[in-house]
Amino acid sequence: MATLEASNKVCSDYPAKKPMDSLKTRICAVCGDKASGFHYGVQSCEGCKSFFKRTIQKQLQYICVEEKDCTIDKSNRIRCQYCRFQKCIKLGMLKEAVREDRAPGGRPRIKSLLTLKEHQETYGSSQMILEFIQARPDCVPSIKLDNHAMTIRDLYHFHTVEILMEVAVQELQMIIKWAKQLSCFNALDADDQINLLSEAALELWVFRICQRSSPHQGFVVFAKEVVWHVDYQSHVVIGQWVSLLLMYARKLQTLQLDMAEFACLSTILLFTQEPCSKLRNYDAVEENLKQAICCLKDYIKCSYPEKTNRFAQIILKLPSLREVCINAKKQSLFAKSFASFALPTISSMLVQQ
Ligand SMILES: [Zn+2]
Ligand SMILES: [Zn+2]
Repeated sequence: MATLEASNKVCSDYPAKKPMDSLKTRICAVCGDKASGFHYGVQSCEGCKSFFKRTIQKQLQYICVEEKDCTIDKSNRIRCQYCRFQKCIKLGMLKEAVREDRAPGGRPRIKSLLTLKEHQETYGSSQMILEFIQARPDCVPSIKLDNHAMTIRDLYHFHTVEILMEVAVQELQMIIKWAKQLSCFNALDADDQINLLSEAALELWVFRICQRSSPHQGFVVFAKEVVWHVDYQSHVVIGQWVSLLLMYARKLQTLQLDMAEFACLSTILLFTQEPCSKLRNYDAVEENLKQAICCLKDYIKCSYPEKTNRFAQIILKLPSLREVCINAKKQSLFAKSFASFALPTISSMLVQQ
């Protein structure tokens, strides 16, 4: 694979072990104990997983009383926390993945939703927003341990394209499930559902990735375990894709969308269609779009009364999302392949229901 040379430079400090060999044995890459799975990017045991998590969450600092080269194995892993933590980092455990344990996007302002509910004219909006949130537009893909290498660095090294594609397929399935939870979407006929989803899938995908990546500057969160930094050397195809995503994630960062806003915007994206599209019931789709926009407007008015421009600022980010996706379709192998498997996946999943 063409990425090997570039990745070698980054991974030079990483022990030269065949990833597939270590996988079969399922041992913790840090201490050699029995691994319980893939944690923060590295195959590891429960002990090392919690140790790493605790260290990041509590921002613990350790010191080594020896020479900073203590052996870390099952029997003496608790002896030197400094060296254990250094080993975790060296093997590729990602701090950002610990922070990703929390749901992306700020919590919705529940009090605002309750206020909306109290008033007759906004009661409908509050109910719809709750439904939009409960449909979970914020689900994050997660890769299974099987068939994969021991650390995320191995993955980057050997299976980058496959991993990113697998994660994309998963996310697409999540997008379809999410849409099916929306009663306004479900009420449409099957052909229109397929048309809407296939038109909006790429934008929804990019939007979700960028929203959850936006708090982590320079990182793209493809999945819980696949967190990509802009500086990782990789194939030019991946580099381009990551830069495109980061550009839009930065735009979202300034907004700090909360969960209710994110949920409304996802719905708006789903129902935003060109008038010339092949929809059978264009009016119903248009009506759904209007309602979703109305929800967002009501919610912002109630939750951020001091920010009078917020609604406009948020809505104005959508044309640039479209632009990102149009560019992506031209430039990025990932966006192109996504588009090519999206339609068959959407059709088959919707027909199954
Ligand atoms: Zn361990
Ligand atoms: Zn030590």
